[in-house]
Amino acid sequence: MSDQQACSGCGFTHQCICHRIPNTESQIHLVLLTHENELTRDTNTGKLLQHSLKQCQSFIWQRKTPPAELLALLNDETHQPLLLFPSDKSIECQQAVSDTVSERTPLFIILDGTWQEAKKMLNKSPWLQTIPQVHLDVTSESSYTLRRNQDSGHLCTCEVGIELLKALNEAQPAKLIEDYYQHYLKVFQADKSGHALR
Ligand SMILES: [Zn+2]
Repeated sequence: MSDQQACSGCGFTHQCICHRIPNTESQIHLVLLTHENELTRDTNTGKLLQHSLKQCQSFIWQRKTPPAELLALLNDETHQPLLLFPSDKSIECQQAVSDTVSERTPLFIILDGTWQEAKKMLNKSPWLQTIPQVHLDVTSESSYTLRRNQDSGHLCTCEVGIELLKALNEAQPAKLIEDYYQHYLKVFQADKSGHALR
């Protein structure tokens, strides 16, 4: 691109990688509940999930009430909402899925923000506190390098989605999204340095 305008799809200025966005599908339903601070962070990786997984929706977090469309999903008897939030009462996500009655589609909610923001979102939202909490047993290290002050061991939003798909034996979409994510990280560094990836 020569006009130095950032692509409205992938957000990059010196190259566009929109053609690399995979088109994947999953048995589960994924909801990103996004803190408004994330909207202005170019280091947000939730959008990668949203772009590449058909069953992924994103909503802006509101303290008192869930967005109407999300509320409808939460109350829909064909879904089983599960909140990805490691705590002393969370259960492993694959276990949670096998405990779910088969007529219900697991609806995983990922709090899309920093760890501090995620805790705040949960603490301030009674409507989130009633949703069963689940966690991932992740052994792989995060390769997320875009935020320096991030605690090690914390996965970014896109990695959480990838690990969730892996844990639920959805290897194919997980692989495609992971390849795109890894490419995105490399392009991000090049783009911020003012050039295309060489
Ligand atoms: Zn693009």
